[in-house]
Amino acid sequence: MDKVTSHSWLDEKHNRLSARFAERHQSVLRQFFARDPNLWPLYKIKEIKELVNSKKNLFTPYNLALRHRISSESVIPHQVNPLVRFDPLALYAAATTKNWDDPASVENVISTPCDPAIHGAMLATIANPNLVYSEYAGNATELEKVVVRQMANLVGYNTADATGLFTQGGTFCNLYGYLLGLRKCFPESVMHGFRDKQFAFINSQAGHYSNMTNLSLLGVNIEEQLIRVRLRENNQIDVQDLAKQLDKCLQEGKAIPTILLTFGTTDTFAIDDVAEVYLTRERICRQYALSYRPHIHVDAAVGWSLLFFRDYDFAQNPLGINSATLDGIEGHASLINGLRFADSISIDFQKWGYVPYTSSLLLVKKRQDMEFLKQDPNYFSYFEPQQRDNTHLQATIECSRSAVGVFSAYSALASMGFEGYQTLVAHGLQNANYMRCLLSQWPNCYVVSGENQGPCVTFRLYNPQLKESARAQFYRERRLIKQKAYMENIVSSATFHRNHFLSRQRRELKTNWITSMARTNYDEQGRCLFLPGEKAVFLNPNTRRSDIEAFVHGLFS
Ligand SMILES: *Cc1c(COP(=O)(O)O)cnc(C)c1O
Repeated sequence: MDKVTSHSWLDEKHNRLSARFAERHQSVLRQFFARDPNLWPLYKIKEIKELVNSKKNLFTPYNLALRHRISSESVIPHQVNPLVRFDPLALYAAATTKNWDDPASVENVISTPCDPAIHGAMLATIANPNLVYSEYAGNATELEKVVVRQMANLVGYNTADATGLFTQGGTFCNLYGYLLGLRKCFPESVMHGFRDKQFAFINSQAGHYSNMTNLSLLGVNIEEQLIRVRLRENNQIDVQDLAKQLDKCLQEGKAIPTILLTFGTTDTFAIDDVAEVYLTRERICRQYALSYRPHIHVDAAVGWSLLFFRDYDFAQNPLGINSATLDGIEGHASLINGLRFADSISIDFQKWGYVPYTSSLLLVKKRQDMEFLKQDPNYFSYFEPQQRDNTHLQATIECSRSAVGVFSAYSALASMGFEGYQTLVAHGLQNANYMRCLLSQWPNCYVVSGENQGPCVTFRLYNPQLKESARAQFYRERRLIKQKAYMENIVSSATFHRNHFLSRQRRELKTNWITSMARTNYDEQGRCLFLPGEKAVFLNPNTRRSDIEAFVHGLFS
């Protein structure tokens, strides 16, 4: 293989699709995404078959009567209805939802679920275990522990020490991250709250919005008790600024319950350096002789799937991944390895795990940490005392907990294995690099944060009539100059791209407009502007290179 440079994704020859990889990818598609009734019996049911076919053929049914009914229906039918397996209104709603199987679907961090996960979910809905309590869940509790151990292994945690639980979405996983830190720092807050305390939570300016909704839910004063750390150019957390902020807080006598990092931001896939933050945390614990350790929670809701490459043989490259993408993944190897320094992690199977909504896992490095979340056992009076300790009953935010996420995640992992996941993840990354490569060939397009080798491609288009290159214009915008001409220029170039985006009406690829894909320099007060742009996220196993070619062709013709 050629020696590749750090920007090998720019070069078409490094982006070729190898025959070996194409064959593997096709085989994964056939087995796990084809909705093949001979492999997966669910698709033999007439109505399901029709639903799947309408999605496959990109056909959205239009029915005026049902459309009217769905916007006005308001009463439960009085009489018993004769056996209809699927109610027409429900079928209509299902058939008219957004089609994630469409190869053009590259929206946000949304994927289509694999067949084994869909069948796994079915087991949970039929058996209907409730994970709140082991007697209501039987071995479903044990299955949850299996997935926890598998994921602990994947991250590089000690499986005997780790624990975890499935919960409602990545948002709740992050909520647990904040709560774990709060309770470890102020154990008495479980009864007495924390209003009298001096503290600051820490996250990054590129964190997902659930950071903010969670903190205000906890009653945190966002202006005074939260520090949003600055970003590096590629949207990674700036660890130097983080260290400075930690020192400042501790010198002011403020405690630091949680540092919340992101492993793969939703928009530009920036990966925070967890190991570096861990070392900083260890230093401040020693230096200030802290009686607690600020809890490091990592939001890996999207990014966790890169873990399938933690032990990949980059030299042999058994899957035949092309050099641009192989190089990109290998370039992130130390960040991927560093995830094991997190105290707890958010993992969404429903995103890059090809599992139906919702399937989210909070993974905790040290099981003792969950003890800090435990409430007074007297509250749980209607559960048998001996059984209470078998689950996370007394430590969870929820009471009833669905096992759908457990069964579907387990089934996907069991069927597709490391190789299946590596193939799917690499397919998305190869698509992303191919698009970056094609876009970069146009002088009026700038690929933003291309070195963030994730599934998200973010770019800016500039007016081709302007002589200056897109790259030069982008960097001029980043400089943040407080002059009228500068501001006018920022607005007019954003308007040009925005209008271009709207006029295309999302043909070929259903890209998204995002209002913050890069920041300008910081001014003396530490403020900056965020620049908008367009993004495509390649999780979809059905997206082909020809779809990307058609999109890029359409952009510039
Ligand atoms: C999607 C996402 C979340 C929120 O997860 P939900 O499962 O949608 O609640 C949090 N963080 C990141 C980085 C995400 O991409």
